[in-house]
Amino acid sequence: MRKKIVLLGASGSIGTQTVDIVSQHPDLFEVKGLSVGNNISFLREYLKNNKAECICVRNEADRDELAKEYPDIQFFYGDEGLMKLSELEGLDLVVNALQGFVGLLPTLNAMEHGYDVALANKETLVAAGSIVTAKAKEKGVRLIPIDSEHSAIFQCLQGSKHSEIKKIIITASGGSFRDLSREELKNVTLKQALSHPNWSMGKKITIDSATMMNKGFEVLEAKWLFDLDYENIETVLHAESVVHSLVEFKDHSILAQLGVSDMRVPIQYALCYPDRLDNTTKSLDLGSLGLLHFKTMDYERYPLLKVAFEVGKKGGNLAAVMNGANEKAVHLFLEEKISFLDIERLIFEAVEKCEFIAKPTVEDIIRSDRWAQNYVEGVVNGQ
Ligand code: MG
Repeated sequence: MRKKIVLLGASGSIGTQTVDIVSQHPDLFEVKGLSVGNNISFLREYLKNNKAECICVRNEADRDELAKEYPDIQFFYGDEGLMKLSELEGLDLVVNALQGFVGLLPTLNAMEHGYDVALANKETLVAAGSIVTAKAKEKGVRLIPIDSEHSAIFQCLQGSKHSEIKKIIITASGGSFRDLSREELKNVTLKQALSHPNWSMGKKITIDSATMMNKGFEVLEAKWLFDLDYENIETVLHAESVVHSLVEFKDHSILAQLGVSDMRVPIQYALCYPDRLDNTTKSLDLGSLGLLHFKTMDYERYPLLKVAFEVGKKGGNLAAVMNGANEKAVHLFLEEKISFLDIERLIFEAVEKCEFIAKPTVEDIIRSDRWAQNYVEGVVNGQ
């Protein structure tokens, strides 16, 4: 039987690669619904070769136009449309590849309706990890990671007991500026920030990799996905991005997952878990690879990662604030309105100045996100 899927964020980097995998296995997967935001040209291309029952776009005007053009498809729009997609009847899996905080409510809604979620949207667990994992437990549904690091850990943990884990070790490439000093970071440009040494990804996550905020998010996500204390989560610099992450067990045996830097591998694993399928990605050639390098994480060089650990340990709404401030700051950096180092400065300030809420509700999380985004915007506009 084919797995019936809803794909949120189909036109982004993870989304298009998901489409790629699905189209290679039409006997196994069927995309019933997808969202494409503003990328209507992507959608028209998609519909030349694929079918869909329901589609969500960002704007009402696009929705109206498309509904006339494709009368057999049901169209939704906006945040509400994402909610409708995430609760379509008869699904087997919701793939959340949305970018940003907007991914939170559709994840919760899909789980509420009893659906497993394959999660590429980091913000869901970063901002609201305790709420999302409690919901998964309550509904008996699974969160399957798509991110390469978490997929690696997830794969290493198959067949083991939670009580046997000593720690997990998340690898970090160091991003586009890994060879620069703090001093040299002062004058880097947007173009330089956007060229990641190993991975081809969306713009936001490429910047998050350069600031190491991305690794901070991954630490928080790992805490929630794998139910660990922060003391049991480590990060290590690994320039080649070949070892995607590792798990050390209490007998000091370490398992790692290795492979080429191709997101289609973890995406496919999330789609067909617990099975494995052939794919068209390359095999890793260890002989021609030669050396792999590892280096102890430098928290002075990457203060945002240090702050992420602190924020995670303090808990409450702080991670939602950190995420909101980052989302706005990266947006402003992409518009070349602030410098690279302004991103971390604005995040530190927002975390410092926000009102702490120890046990936030979903509404508190949404408010904290808005507060942080407004705070950053206010500081930058007032400069
Ligand atoms: Mg990652």
